Amino acid sequence: MENDVRRSCVDCGVVNCDVQNKSYPPFCLTTHMDKTVKNEAMKEYTGENRKVMQTAAKVEYDGYCVWTRVQETVEFMKRMGYHKIGIATCVGLIQETQRIDQNT
Ligand code: SF4
Repeated sequence: MENDVRRSCVDCGVVNCDVQNKSYPPFCLTTHMDKTVKNEAMKEYTGENRKVMQTAAKVEYDGYCVWTRVQETVEFMKRMGYHKIGIATCVGLIQETQRIDQNT
């Protein structure tokens, strides 16, 4: 029965991807992803998808815990050459979304 259980990050007690002072658990996809699945996924990172992935990583590198999430988003837009984006929101962030909407 245990073999039928599929574990993921939600089950992780070490979070080694963050602190990197322990070992990755056996179910961690960072170190144990099936190579066929990984290769299929990597094929999708071409063209615009690749640019989005790389630009988002660079923005995170430059601004993580320095800029607000809104500043990071604006920086991402600038680097991508975007002039208009949609914002996904929910009731828990509706006031913040209204403030952004009023300032655009
Ligand atoms: S990526 Fe690996 S180490 Fe990080 S939370 Fe997920 S299972 Fe844990």
